[in-house]
Amino acid sequence: MFLSFPIDRVRADFPILHQQVYKRPLVYFDNAASTQKPVQVIDAIRRYYEQDNCNIHRGVHYLSVKATEAFEETRKEIREFINARDTREIIFTKGTTESLNLVASSFGKRYIRPGDEVIATIMEHHSNFVPWQQMCLECGATLRVAGIDDRGMLNVGELFGMISEKTRMITLTHVSNVLGTINPVKEIIAEAHKHGIPVLIDGAQGISHLPVDVQDMDCDFYCFSGHKMYGPMGIGVLYGKEKCLEELPPYQMGGEMIKEVYVDHTTFNELPFKFEAGTPNVEGVAGLRAALHYLNELGMDNIMDYEASLLKYATEKLAGIEGVRFYGTSDWKASLISFLIGKIHPYDVGMIIDKMGIAVRTGHHCAMPLMDYLHIPGTVRASFAFYNTMEEIDWMALAVAKAKKMLE
Ligand code: PLP
Repeated sequence: MFLSFPIDRVRADFPILHQQVYKRPLVYFDNAASTQKPVQVIDAIRRYYEQDNCNIHRGVHYLSVKATEAFEETRKEIREFINARDTREIIFTKGTTESLNLVASSFGKRYIRPGDEVIATIMEHHSNFVPWQQMCLECGATLRVAGIDDRGMLNVGELFGMISEKTRMITLTHVSNVLGTINPVKEIIAEAHKHGIPVLIDGAQGISHLPVDVQDMDCDFYCFSGHKMYGPMGIGVLYGKEKCLEELPPYQMGGEMIKEVYVDHTTFNELPFKFEAGTPNVEGVAGLRAALHYLNELGMDNIMDYEASLLKYATEKLAGIEGVRFYGTSDWKASLISFLIGKIHPYDVGMIIDKMGIAVRTGHHCAMPLMDYLHIPGTVRASFAFYNTMEEIDWMALAVAKAKKMLE
């Protein structure tokens, strides 16, 4: 067991965790949906409104310059966090979903023609599925989908077999939000690049669990959301290689993304502003910056180690309950567990353990194609963050066993 993680200090930073629900201490295991925020992030947002609030860029007055500097400083810190080459490659968006829509829409317009193909995987979140599916339908292209094996690991050979001269893009998740599987993205990117095919990585579940180095990975695009990495909602990032972003048309039109506007035509701003139309979420960026500082201080390697010990412990505990079936048992797995018990509906398990203070997610987890593939209605998903404890896992195991007894 990992002993040196400063769990007490960490938990003290998250005010929301210290409350009772249904007269029990809250156990929050819904981190894959959204993480809680440390007081440092909450304070940063408050401070922003008390001291810095102003629209950014173009203003010459004190507050505007101060807010702009903080905003652009955050872009630099994000560049460092994911080891991008240049700040021009960091686009602020509303979140992963908007980042994915941006790429599917702009890339589709520029490159996808009738008869072309895009390759995804069966474990994609709807956010990385529907934009590509709809874009393909509009363009007369085909979305092809690689499957998984019985441990929930991607059939990489099947994916490679789909690559042809028709393939325009490969898009896949770094970490599955249902199975926990960490995909071998580096290997897939290397193979795709041999054929000159760009690769987009949906990092919504990767960014908070793993150190991410986009240059080492060599992905062409990487997306993530602030709220899944202890930052605020409504802010996220699209990373794109400069040469890829340069070639894409703007996604939305409006202020900030223009250079010059005439009655009959417009010239567009340079990167990254070409993709940042309108007033951005400056408050969200302030909070995201504090979240980055928090993660950097804890260290992604430490987080990974501690979460691995939580995953191992929870897997052992749940495996001790007769009838529990796991979905996703890859050796390369982030700290979440999807499971079912016998014929019991996941919703019923979720409802009962909620009354014991435990928040898990039940249902299809925005991955209906995967549920169809697995022939199940959904799962119970317990997803862990670095503020969770072994004692909370003990309590969940007791609660699940109790729910099983009641429902059988
Ligand atoms: N991709 C994955 C793998 C996710 O887990 C999620 C959210 O759960 C998303 C995309 C969408 O993220 P957001 O709702 O923050 O845009």
